[in-house]
Amino acid sequence: MSKLKPCEKCGSSNVSVGVFSDALYRGLCQDCGHGYENWEYSGEEAIKAWNTRPIEDELRKQLAEKDAEIAKFRAENEKLRSMLFGYVNNECNRIENNRGRGRDCACQKKSLKKTASAEERQ
Ligand SMILES: [Zn+2]
Repeated sequence: MSKLKPCEKCGSSNVSVGVFSDALYRGLCQDCGHGYENWEYSGEEAIKAWNTRPIEDELRKQLAEKDAEIAKFRAENEKLRSMLFGYVNNECNRIENNRGRGRDCACQKKSLKKTASAEERQ
């Protein structure tokens, strides 16, 4: 006999095939009482029906695709973040390296000085 998937309502693995009048079968959750909507004529058919979940399978497939997409974007974001912070840190290091040596930084420090002297003139 094939294995039943966990209950689609509560996720419990405590599921079995319920039998009605020794003739009709359906998957049944022993924990939440959820039963498959249709009765089948054999236990195997009941298991097949219980395990067939086209909407759930389609949603799982879509979720896997979205997860892969998110992982791609995260990796791309991480790459861009390291590029950006690498750039910013280089700027800061240059300021730190030039501080106290009587040299102006080629980037931010100069523009700050220009701004300061422009304010002094007013
Ligand atoms: Zn259940």
